[in-house]
Amino acid sequence: MMKRTVKKASPKEDLAAKGKKVKTFSRLRGMRDVLFDEYKYWEVVNKKASDLAKTYGFKRVDTPIIEKMELFERASGKASDIITKEIYSFVDKNGEKVALRAEATPGLVRAYVEHGMSNLPQPVKMFWIGPAFRNDKPQAGRYRQFTQYNLEMFGEAGPVADAQLILVAFNFFRELQVDVQVQINSVGCKDCRKDYLDKLVKYYKDKSRSPKLCLECKKNLTKNPMRLLECKEEKCVTMRAEAPQLVDSLCDPCRDHFVKVLEYLDELGVNYNLEPFLVRGLEYYSRTVFEIWSLDDGSEARQAALGGGGRYDELVEYMGGRPTPACGFGIGLERTILKIKENNIALKEEAQMDVFIAQLGEGPRRRSMVLFEELRRAGFKVGQLFSKDSLKIQLEEATRMSVKFSLILGQKELSDGTILIRDMESGVQEIIDLNKVRVEMGKRLGKE
Ligand code: AMP
Repeated sequence: MMKRTVKKASPKEDLAAKGKKVKTFSRLRGMRDVLFDEYKYWEVVNKKASDLAKTYGFKRVDTPIIEKMELFERASGKASDIITKEIYSFVDKNGEKVALRAEATPGLVRAYVEHGMSNLPQPVKMFWIGPAFRNDKPQAGRYRQFTQYNLEMFGEAGPVADAQLILVAFNFFRELQVDVQVQINSVGCKDCRKDYLDKLVKYYKDKSRSPKLCLECKKNLTKNPMRLLECKEEKCVTMRAEAPQLVDSLCDPCRDHFVKVLEYLDELGVNYNLEPFLVRGLEYYSRTVFEIWSLDDGSEARQAALGGGGRYDELVEYMGGRPTPACGFGIGLERTILKIKENNIALKEEAQMDVFIAQLGEGPRRRSMVLFEELRRAGFKVGQLFSKDSLKIQLEEATRMSVKFSLILGQKELSDGTILIRDMESGVQEIIDLNKVRVEMGKRLGKE
């Protein structure tokens, strides 16, 4: 009797038959999937990031994505944009107020203190690559989950540390062929900043100026006057042009430090520009602050900075550690990849396959899978399409992979203990001993 197979309806078909619409899901706003074609870029960028960091003596660390909200409030400042507007925080099922990290530094400083790293030989140099989350308004190059490459150096007060970090950030882009310029400034220390703030507030409180400020700047004038320097409103930008500059108020040690950083950068051929109103929003910076701007972004560069960082000499102590000078930077990898794509920078081709294994029939397929493992362990890059039965389709795949040779195993060869080796260019096929494939491939590919 002939066996009849009855096709069972899928759950979707079942529901459709009952007239119900099946719900599909989409990503959250501002979140991205990285699919096959884009992944090539991630591999290149991640490798460059980690190779470069290691070359300069930085070692990789990872910290949890989620930490106590209090940690972030303490590090970034309760009044910062990150804390007031952007951080994803919630009360977890244990009643604890936690948050997804919006930047790497708070977690890295916590780790430095918690693991007693001040007892290690200083400086402690760490690098970190991972996702960060900010409830930003999504747009090109601005996402709610994005990836940062961070370098931090703890325990080195000298300008050599600032210069080395800036050099790594600059080299990262230069070697990925993205044209950038480092924007640099010094925000001084607590002492020199105090004098500066007095001058700044006086400048803005002038009757001819204060009424013309935007609402946000009016508020910041009493709360956090440095923020006025970063306002993007046109009228505030115009008014800023004549504002006193931080560099003119630096105390002698801060000025000396800044000059030395610039001298190093000159010597190392780093393309930089003095940006007198660059202060970077966070409260924890002292002395050097910098950002990396793309040279082809023109007036948009400030909003679309590729990276930024600076020195934060007070933060470790403020977070409960011993007084420890420190500095660091963060680079956005999505923005870096956008730049590479925009500039059509060619990536190196994928690693070339050495040989392809094609098989015909169940027995040959099993033996081919074992042969694949043998060759792979021997260091060959082997292509395959074990899910297909057709020799034509398999050889087309071999051609697409541009392999020099394909190995073809059919039922007859398997019984004889042989395998066919096909030169993909000439189409010439030879029979060889199945047990000698490894040696034979080694000879033909010059990998003995
Ligand atoms: P920040 O910590 O704000 O200085 O950011 C450092 C770098 O991270 C920026 O220069 C960007 O390249 C990247 N970045 C910051 N926020 C976002 C975001 N919402 N989406 C994508 N990249 C971001």
